[in-house]
Amino acid sequence: MSPNTQLLQKIDTIKGVGPKMSAHLAKLGLEKIQDLLFHLPLRYQDRTRIYPIADLRHGQEVLIEGKVDHCSILFKQRRMMVCQISDASGGVITLRFFHFSNAQKLSLSRGTLLRCFGEIYQGYNSLEIVHPEYKIINKNTPLALADSLTPTYPSTKGLQQRTLRRLTTEAIRYIDGLDEVFPESLRRQYKLMTLAEALIALHQPTPESSVEQLLSTSHPAQQRLIFEELTAHHLSLRKFREYSRKINGIPLLSKDVLYQQLLDSLPFQLTGAQQRVITELKHDMQQAWPMSRLVQGDVGSGKTLVAAAAALTAIEAGYQVALMVPTEILAEQHLKSFSEWFEPLGLRVSLLSGRQKAAERRDNIENIALGLSNLVIGTHALFQDAVTFKQLGLLIIDEQHRFGVHQRLALREKGKQGDLYPHQLVMTATPIPRTLAMTAYADMDYSVIDELPPGRTPIKTVVIQNTRRDDIVQRIDAVCQQGAQVYWVCTLIEESDALQCQNAEETLALLQEALPKLNIGLVHGRMSALEKESTMQSFKQGDLHLLVATTVIEVGVDVPNASLMIIENAERLGLAQLHQLRGRVGRGTAASSCVLMYQSPLSQIARKRLNALRNSNDGFEIARIDLEIRGPGEVFGTRQTGELQFRIADLLRDQQLLPSIQNASEVIIKKYPEKIQPLIDRWIKTAEDYVHA
Ligand code: ADP
Ligand code: MG
Repeated sequence: MSPNTQLLQKIDTIKGVGPKMSAHLAKLGLEKIQDLLFHLPLRYQDRTRIYPIADLRHGQEVLIEGKVDHCSILFKQRRMMVCQISDASGGVITLRFFHFSNAQKLSLSRGTLLRCFGEIYQGYNSLEIVHPEYKIINKNTPLALADSLTPTYPSTKGLQQRTLRRLTTEAIRYIDGLDEVFPESLRRQYKLMTLAEALIALHQPTPESSVEQLLSTSHPAQQRLIFEELTAHHLSLRKFREYSRKINGIPLLSKDVLYQQLLDSLPFQLTGAQQRVITELKHDMQQAWPMSRLVQGDVGSGKTLVAAAAALTAIEAGYQVALMVPTEILAEQHLKSFSEWFEPLGLRVSLLSGRQKAAERRDNIENIALGLSNLVIGTHALFQDAVTFKQLGLLIIDEQHRFGVHQRLALREKGKQGDLYPHQLVMTATPIPRTLAMTAYADMDYSVIDELPPGRTPIKTVVIQNTRRDDIVQRIDAVCQQGAQVYWVCTLIEESDALQCQNAEETLALLQEALPKLNIGLVHGRMSALEKESTMQSFKQGDLHLLVATTVIEVGVDVPNASLMIIENAERLGLAQLHQLRGRVGRGTAASSCVLMYQSPLSQIARKRLNALRNSNDGFEIARIDLEIRGPGEVFGTRQTGELQFRIADLLRDQQLLPSIQNASEVIIKKYPEKIQPLIDRWIKTAEDYVHA
């Protein structure tokens, strides 16, 4: 059998792989032998050398050898075995076991030579390893050292690292059969090694390979794969974009009568940036293919009005508009703003909420189907099966930084009527550098509202230890006396909703006691939609001075009279989230401030984060610092860029490659179009279903 066909065989053709193991492997998406090659290590262990115990530091994961000084069983909170070993370097380390047998204890007698592997931990008195892997060394048969770094793979319960290593070694035997799809001329231009070289270097790194390089993903082998993966993603998004041009949209023509009426009713003028973006949207919506545009604007830049302008264009042309938001609170708020703007124009705005009473919901659904509603606002409940639109011309997705290409395409499919697709507008406050947007969102066009409405005073941010709570409470009192309003944000690291809410309720009680003259409200995730709505409404109307809230108010909430925000345990939140939260103040003309309260001691990173926020109000600048603080070595969540699932690349970390990726993709499209599909097939598993072209 040729190596190529061998790679395409099922993994269970390898000796020793039975149905049970196959099932485990399938959970990891590993079916063909070739899949093993692309199942890349998460980390590496260095078992190629033995570290002197005296040189060890907390956090290292290393191999050591030493003689047992003593070993005893202790009864502290629980029964444990503690064994101290030392080596010629003069260093001493404690091995701690909570599970052990009597035989084990007996085998660790004084003078026994051990080789141990594990993570070094700074204990109370000395360095420790808890439950090290260890072997007793027999002087006559010394143990060998590994001759390459040991990879650790993403795995699943019941599947051992040893097994994955063995299977990968097997797969590498057939690596000559791997197709090198990346064009050679580009490989030369960007000095990239071959795919086979790169994969071998990552699965079986030589002892000379720098662990640091591998861990920080800066090894040339990793760079090679990152380059190819990013190119594949870019090409696939470009393909979606091309497909969008080939399907039918609805050319929306309007004379801007409604739009003009809206402008006349506003107490302010649109900023230049808002006007520019609105023009871009209108232009897109006149085309015979569906618009797909991302509008990015920092918190408070006035995205809602831009959405309103686009909506009016569609409505005047005779079509319905849907506005989808991530939270019920935001849906309620938009219902209010849009009703205020649109009802005087004789238009009907309705809300679809997952928590509405059955009768109300039925009415709404009927109004939508009959075309009586011009604008429909809601969470994802909007696209449930029961809802049929009359003539959906435009779909707006607000504040969805976690909204992926698949979801965008799926929604567009759902909004399809006959063979006409609705236009799509995605709005986000997440700062995305231009090159990044052009790669990560290459299926969409991209606009930036790069200007804040005039008259805003920058938010002043202070960082304060939580022992000064009393001062802050006094400050709240003073601010409210002057007629302004205040948010108090409770954060808890626990995922548990219940705990979050309990914490917010306790905070409410404390503040009520400390500030008896103020009206204080509470919103959290466990309240009913109605309770949340009425509290938000009271706050917006100014009936409440102070609003205690969990991070449910993170996105979109707009109460311009609120000018002070206190964030408790700010050190627990990420920079992006803090910036979003803080954006709830500074939305009016009054000078606003944000107090970041922390619990001492602060870690280095937390301190840097809070300082960054204190020093800047600019979302782009904050995103840049976030990247710097995290450092290139860390694996990022996909929260920031939202969506694309990569095997090895990371859009933020690998930003500097993006211009080259765009360039390489151009070359492939022009000169090697036959390589596009193989590249996409290799790196991207799903999503192709949306392209019927
Ligand atoms: P975001 O971009 O964060 O969604 P919003 O659309 O909620 O921002 O707008 C923030 C606030 O600024 C709102 O109260 C809105 O009415 C107001 N606003 C929007 N555009 C302007 C403008 N051109 N001039 C003054 N205020 C504006
Ligand atoms: Mg908004």
